[in-house]
Amino acid sequence: MDRFGAYVDLDAIRGNVDTLSRHAGDASVMAVVKADGYGHGLLPSARAALDGGAGWLGVAFIEEALALRAAGLSAPVLAWLIAPGEDLGPALAADIDISVSATWALDAVAAAAASTGRPARVHLKVDTGLGRAGATEADWPQLTESAAKLEAEGSIAVVGVWSHLAYADAPGHPTIARQRSAFEEGLAVAARAGLRPQVRHLANSAATLALPDTHYDLVRPGVAVYGLSPGPDVGAARGLGLRPAMSLRARIALVKEVRAGQGVSYGHRYTTQTATTLALIPLGYADGIPRQATNVGPVQIGGRRFTVSGTVCMDQFVVDVADAPVVAGDEVVLFGAGDDGEPTADDWAAAVGTINYEIVTRIGARVPRFYTGERA
Ligand SMILES: *Cc1c(COP(=O)(O)O)cnc(C)c1O
Repeated sequence: MDRFGAYVDLDAIRGNVDTLSRHAGDASVMAVVKADGYGHGLLPSARAALDGGAGWLGVAFIEEALALRAAGLSAPVLAWLIAPGEDLGPALAADIDISVSATWALDAVAAAAASTGRPARVHLKVDTGLGRAGATEADWPQLTESAAKLEAEGSIAVVGVWSHLAYADAPGHPTIARQRSAFEEGLAVAARAGLRPQVRHLANSAATLALPDTHYDLVRPGVAVYGLSPGPDVGAARGLGLRPAMSLRARIALVKEVRAGQGVSYGHRYTTQTATTLALIPLGYADGIPRQATNVGPVQIGGRRFTVSGTVCMDQFVVDVADAPVVAGDEVVLFGAGDDGEPTADDWAAAVGTINYEIVTRIGARVPRFYTGERA
């Protein structure tokens, strides 16, 4: 290993998608690979997910979808976040499906389709209660009617109708049933407008794992593809048959003996209680180690657990390793699958008050990704 690295087990991703496919039953799986595959690397993650049985890929932005195509991946890809003024031509030429939540977007897609000579593939999004993207119930009839008209004219094909849940990670939450009936109503409105979408989709990871009546024709798991639980109420990763794919490791850059009463790192937010040994870890908030991990982030060195000592800096942090016999160059595991007692991304999330999604997704560009597994 270099100074540090994020090790990504592609067999884990493949196995996780297989597990998700089993949950999905007759529904197809769209593996969500936005944000550089939740920090795991866009292309290796996408390939491993397709290997594991995903039939579709999902991303937020057109650039992400184009990167998949540029690498030769030909599976259907949906990009769901476009902004006014974006050049949609390259996306349509590359056969990328585009989500549409508003009339302006519908018109932009239809106009761009004129240059490709074939209908643009569109997924119409209805807001069933998340209050984020998607047309409101009030705007939905107009959007579906306009889409039907453009479909009849041959400029678009409405491939999908879809929505997104607010509380899928809280199975039993009353909004789930409400969103499901709003989705049914949205589908009925679309049908009355004359639309016959191939795929209706609503489920993220949590819903794929815990809410079978939200599966429809296609499920869109993201975080579970990478082996992380979408939330404690859905279950722990292991119990769900998921295996965390990423392990973040570094080599100790410096070890030194210090006296009792030594202030450590900026602001001396940690002070040694006794004469002790400090180890310097060459990862910091520029690499996605949350500054909030100051004095609370867990690490494993030589099989023992320690805690970040003092302020996490941009490029480095310190660990008081007490009497542990560590030397510069020893390996530090920040998080991994947990098999060998190392902390997990869940442990980091709990320590700093966030979700495991944010821990893995924010691992920075400076950290090289190393791929392991049979097809790495
Ligand atoms: C990110 C995202 C997903 C995946 O969510 P997970 O909770 O990671 O499974 C699915 N659908 C949409 C619209 C998203 O933005």
